[in-house]
Amino acid sequence: NTSLHELDPDVAAAVDAELRRQQSTLEMIASENFAPVAVMEAQGSVLTNKYAEGYPGRRYYGGCEHVDVIEQIAIDRIKELFGAEHANVQPHSGAQANAAAMFALLKPGDTIMGLNLAHGGHLTHGMKINFSGKLYNVVAYHVDETTGQVDMAEVEKLAKEARPKLIVAGWSAYPRQLDFAAFRRIADEVGAYLMVDMAHFAGLVAAGLHPNPVPHAHVVTTTTHKTLGGPRGGVILSTQELAKKINSAVFPGQQGGPLEHVIAAKAVSFKVAATEEFKERQQRTLDGARILAERLVQDDARAVGVNVLSGGTDVHLVLVDLRESELDGQQAEDRLHEVGITVNRNAVPNDPRPPMVTSGLRIGTPALATRGFTAEDFREVADVIAEALKPSFDETVAASLKARVTALADKYPLYPGL
Ligand code: PLP
Repeated sequence: NTSLHELDPDVAAAVDAELRRQQSTLEMIASENFAPVAVMEAQGSVLTNKYAEGYPGRRYYGGCEHVDVIEQIAIDRIKELFGAEHANVQPHSGAQANAAAMFALLKPGDTIMGLNLAHGGHLTHGMKINFSGKLYNVVAYHVDETTGQVDMAEVEKLAKEARPKLIVAGWSAYPRQLDFAAFRRIADEVGAYLMVDMAHFAGLVAAGLHPNPVPHAHVVTTTTHKTLGGPRGGVILSTQELAKKINSAVFPGQQGGPLEHVIAAKAVSFKVAATEEFKERQQRTLDGARILAERLVQDDARAVGVNVLSGGTDVHLVLVDLRESELDGQQAEDRLHEVGITVNRNAVPNDPRPPMVTSGLRIGTPALATRGFTAEDFREVADVIAEALKPSFDETVAASLKARVTALADKYPLYPGL
């Protein structure tokens, strides 16, 4: 029963330092969130010791009576949350959920369509050196240069030419809602499966604040740790017709033993996601992103070359376009880091700067909304960000912005008992 601090002070010290970092800075990486203590408790439980290859009631190991209960609760809750016929809660991550879903529906060499990585798609939607780009023939679609929104006319044209077996609708860096019905119509026209990867916006869907892709898609994949606010992990939802294929693609197709401690934590987070408090939090997430976008399209921001892709947002993130700014994505990320705001630089469509530098920032509001931020707090954060991106930024400005960030962080203590 030796504690982490006693057994391994080096690792313990770094964990403590990370807790202090999370507490004292403002987390605005769009794919991050703060899991409830109860979720972390489940994830840190004795379930980590258990092998349970197979599925509830059909395991290849003994002693699974309790993990069966837990996995079934997780399955039932997420089916209910999204109105899905079938759920597989075993994928270790979003990438593995996507790998398994594709493994279930495709053969190597089949054609898939996905949103181009530089236009907001994910690595697993067909990036060249990802499994998806190596195993499948990829035809990428794009956002329209002027609207910044997915060009559905291009999707239709490419689908008719390429006759893909699978169309992936979903994104990692895109500020608008996709038209799932239009994607399904196109998929049906060319005989393709439609897979929606809702990893980023699943929390908004659960709260009823974003269209639900489940009624439109053959398969829906998600992570559980982004807007959904649970442990790191993945889930696949599908029609009943595809249930067997999906299950055997996850196990034994892609994975061995499921992480039952993570599945327990997923179950807890699905319970949370069905509450009114969660819905209210997702509303503040959306409000915060809109407030940020509105601040960054004001004249003082535009005058220094700061723009917002697509002119605004319908979701939990804002994509800042720095193509006209002297600041590149790396410098902007560093500046915000200096004042205590964590974001990630992000390529914008047709980015003139290299991928390690980029001309954009992706800024998300889920973690701050979880912390309790209100519209007024988001206005203050937005103003700090706008000021930090100006050429007038120097040591004095940095110190005053950092003080404003610290005041906000102190206003909402994070994990006070830890
Ligand atoms: N799908 C989308 C749309 C994502 O944005 C991400 C992660 O950023 C993933 C899948 C992969 O999730 P994970 O990092 O858990 O593998």
